Amino acid sequence: MKALIKKKPEPGIWFEDVIEPTCGTNEVKIKITHSSICGTDLHIFNWDDWAKRTIKTPLTIGHEFCGIISEVGLGVKHYKQGDRVTGEGHITCGNCRNCRAGKTHLCQKTLGIGVNRDGAFAEYLIIPESNVWRVHNEISSEISSFFDPFGNAVHAALSYDMVGEDVLITGAGPIGIMAVSICKFIGARNIVITDTNDFRLNLAKTAGASQTINIKKNKISDYFDELNISNGFDIGLEMSGNPDAFKGLLENMYNGGKVALLGLLPKSTIINWDDVIFKGLHIKGIYGREMYETWYKMTQMTRSGLDISNVLTHKFPIEDYKKAFQVMQTGQCGKIVLEW
Ligand code: NAD
Ligand code: ZN
Repeated sequence: MKALIKKKPEPGIWFEDVIEPTCGTNEVKIKITHSSICGTDLHIFNWDDWAKRTIKTPLTIGHEFCGIISEVGLGVKHYKQGDRVTGEGHITCGNCRNCRAGKTHLCQKTLGIGVNRDGAFAEYLIIPESNVWRVHNEISSEISSFFDPFGNAVHAALSYDMVGEDVLITGAGPIGIMAVSICKFIGARNIVITDTNDFRLNLAKTAGASQTINIKKNKISDYFDELNISNGFDIGLEMSGNPDAFKGLLENMYNGGKVALLGLLPKSTIINWDDVIFKGLHIKGIYGREMYETWYKMTQMTRSGLDISNVLTHKFPIEDYKKAFQVMQTGQCGKIVLEW
């Protein structure tokens, strides 16, 4: 079968023939129809330090997908051939303390598809039945192909009570943009989002942001009067992975505020601890999605009118994967979907 693979430990990806995987006990085989590109795939493409440390070549990359079940393994109970599905890319051990307590998003032995084992940028993907998520017939395959990052945004945004609260989001990448739509849908008051990229800030505006701020040109606190914010933000969602953005977010939080950290900050990140301690901030790290409550919420919120479709800016046939990665490199995009 054809797959996008990381063939060699150097920049690039290759579209080549690989051996078609077979379906084991309790596993399903999915014929992929849509793959969506994540920043992680770009790290693997570019072969940066994280990729060098993490990826063992050769590897089929990709973890955001939608497809049709083509085969079910022995023991599979809840799915059959022909079902339209997406799935959770974190394969958990099922046996550590957290897994056994039902908190599988905190599994200590999580393996990621397309990172630690073969992934979803291929004609066929094999995952355990327990990782499969059925796509509701009211939801498109394109949108469900990026339920994974949508789930990151939902996991972060639903961590705190948003009703009537002023929210600051740092980073208008695809996840930050989807977070705007979610915060608006669940009843936040002001939703302010920062970035350095005007194309992405415009997408955030159409997603419903009360104010978009290009942090290269303007300061967050300059907008407080206009937005009727007296003391700072009640909730902060760090979605850039940029140390300066995180520092700015903490500076602009109100006392007792709540912060969710999703962006992957470098180890060298320095913050002013006075902002955390004297303001009594709550800070929570967000990894992946809650299994499977986040998936349930994504489905039901979408069916109830939450529309994240504006984040989808580009579609390419799989053969044009190079063009797709070129657009990703420019940052002038939201989500990019590859069609098989
Ligand atoms: P992305 O890299 O596309 O978006 C990050 C955005 O932050 C970019 O638009 C960039 O221009 C912006 N940015 C850079 N410097 C900034 C600054 N000083 N102030 C404000 N914005 C700034 O990433 P994404 O796919 O939207 O993901 C967001 C972050 O979450 C990334 O750091 C990603 O690695 C991380 N992530 C974490 C998890 C998790 O489970 N914790 C999962 C997926 C992604
Ligand atoms: Zn576990």
